[in-house]
Amino acid sequence: ATPTAITVGMGRAAKEGVLFKNATHLENTAGLDTVVFDKTGTLTEGKPSLTRIVALSGSEDEVLRLAASVDRHSDHPLARAIVDGAKARNLSLWETTGFQNISGFGVQAGLEGAMVRVGNVDLMVRENIPTLDASSQADEAALRGETVMYVAKGGELMGLVGVSDQVRSEATRAIRDLHQLGIKTVMLTGDNEHTARAVARQVGIDEVIAGVKPDQKQSRIEGLMQGGKRVAMVGDGINDAPALATATVGIAIGAGTDVAIETAGVVLLQDNPAAVPVAIRLARAVNGKIK
Ligand code: ADP
Ligand code: MG
Repeated sequence: ATPTAITVGMGRAAKEGVLFKNATHLENTAGLDTVVFDKTGTLTEGKPSLTRIVALSGSEDEVLRLAASVDRHSDHPLARAIVDGAKARNLSLWETTGFQNISGFGVQAGLEGAMVRVGNVDLMVRENIPTLDASSQADEAALRGETVMYVAKGGELMGLVGVSDQVRSEATRAIRDLHQLGIKTVMLTGDNEHTARAVARQVGIDEVIAGVKPDQKQSRIEGLMQGGKRVAMVGDGINDAPALATATVGIAIGAGTDVAIETAGVVLLQDNPAAVPVAIRLARAVNGKIK
């Protein structure tokens, strides 16, 4: 192995927007078997917008106003979609108390002596809030790739909101290129199974691991690495930094968070999943020369 070939290779990669932090990461990238993608912000634009309101009690505006009154205190991209949706309808929001973020589930805050909760079905199950009345509408939304959030006040389900996050136009191409390189592709997401599968179908990804809580992403990566498989995790660092650190190669994408850039062994300067197969091709070319 000539150090010169590696240095030259890393320099060439940098010109294409692929930063390998050191030679080991380059070598590991050349030997990858599997690439795991975070869904939100990696395969999708990460800018969800409100596409659906279902009112089980009261009006659509009331359901949206409740959800936005709690979610205005959250900086989650889903929360922004809800708050922007309420703004677009000129809704005034309520003052709430004691806002709490429940990672992997949703958010809650007090309003007029009741707890308002906005989040996934697991949050409702946890709080014993029945969701059966909304199940057909929730399924319909999820099958279209929308993320469904339940809105409850006290013990009662008030309605649903659905938000849609556009699939990145380059994602399909990136997945196809990876398959041509003989790489297995996986999506890892906290979103629900139906939503995840709808997005996976659009981009052609092989396998879906959905409904994963932020603290479980790391162990799911360990599972994929069993039997000596070399696995890359591609993410932006929101909820996935431990998974980036555990993978054979952590790949931070685009305007990733500082934590992603610090944790990852490879940084893609462009906010584009198509840079992943480019990185692997470059790494293989360099590695081929040094063997
Ligand atoms: P991801 O893996 O896609 O980043 P998260 O683990 O952040 O997902 O969230 C999982 C699920 O929890 C979301 O799909 C959503 O249903 C719910 N959730 C999380 N944060 C919020 C929020 N601020 N408002 C409403 N729902 C939320
Ligand atoms: Mg995320």
